[in-house]
Amino acid sequence: MTSTPAIPSAMSSAAENTSAAVPAAGAVDGTGLHGPVTDWFAEHARDLPWRRPEAGAWGVMVSEFMLQQTPVSRVLPVYEQWLARWPRPADLAAEPPGEAVRAWGRLGYPRRALRLHAAASAIQERHGGDVPREHAQLLALPGVGEYTAAAVASFAYGQRHAVLDTNVRRVFARAVTGRQYPPNATTAAERKLARALLPEDEGLAARWAAATMELGALVCTARSPECHRCPIAAQCAWRLAGSPVHEGPPRRTQAYAGTDRQVRGKLLAVLREAVTPVPQGVLDAVWDEPVQRARALDGLVSDGLVEPLGGGRYRLPHA
Ligand code: SF4
Repeated sequence: MTSTPAIPSAMSSAAENTSAAVPAAGAVDGTGLHGPVTDWFAEHARDLPWRRPEAGAWGVMVSEFMLQQTPVSRVLPVYEQWLARWPRPADLAAEPPGEAVRAWGRLGYPRRALRLHAAASAIQERHGGDVPREHAQLLALPGVGEYTAAAVASFAYGQRHAVLDTNVRRVFARAVTGRQYPPNATTAAERKLARALLPEDEGLAARWAAATMELGALVCTARSPECHRCPIAAQCAWRLAGSPVHEGPPRRTQAYAGTDRQVRGKLLAVLREAVTPVPQGVLDAVWDEPVQRARALDGLVSDGLVEPLGGGRYRLPHA
């Protein structure tokens, strides 16, 4: 580990010019960041079940599906129950998709449950029940995008991939680009930067991926970064520039109350609890506004989360 890390060359210019775009990836040298961040991770990483060896690639994959847009504290109990019930992809694939939606509980964005079920079925059919190691094979699974494929390949199999989630993007935006927040949606320039910062060594790259994510989750948080306990504070471009406030487009906030998402959540909650098909009248009672309620129910049906039966009855999907 380097004791006096080299300051990434992009940082000095970012510190001088806070409106700078993402630095050219070729100009970035992340070697000075690798040691401090991975050393910090070795000391401060949370003991999360999907990080334990016994979690295996399936445990990592399940956690990655659940953690998208959902905090760790809410994921933990559902994750534990899920793995206890379906310890292998084949166990999940053997049950109807509606059981995945039921077990998803209140994690939100329940289409993820259907996608995870579809991924488990594909793993069973194409890979004999073992989560594949190859990034391309992971990416070919239903519901697995670039982020999840990279995360599983890196966290489960120790491979060298840029794993770019919200937390990592925020750390890179601040530490390297000198901006308080990354763009609203991931850009090609950010991906390039992430690849440029990736350690050459495979094992170190895998630790770096997990460590930068943890740093963003625990220290370099969105609203109140704790720079005094950050291992790269002395090198952070944003901090060196005086922590300039965000000047870009307003940060997106996700409203919930009164939205179709809320209505969908209420409808699904009734169906999750039911062991027999639910009559329309019971669903009508969850939300007063009929047009919005019908729209929400139609959306659930077209997303495959709810199965309409004859006679105005509904249930979670069985096939
Ligand atoms: S010094 Fe502060 S802003 Fe910079 S990376 Fe660390 S926690 Fe984030």
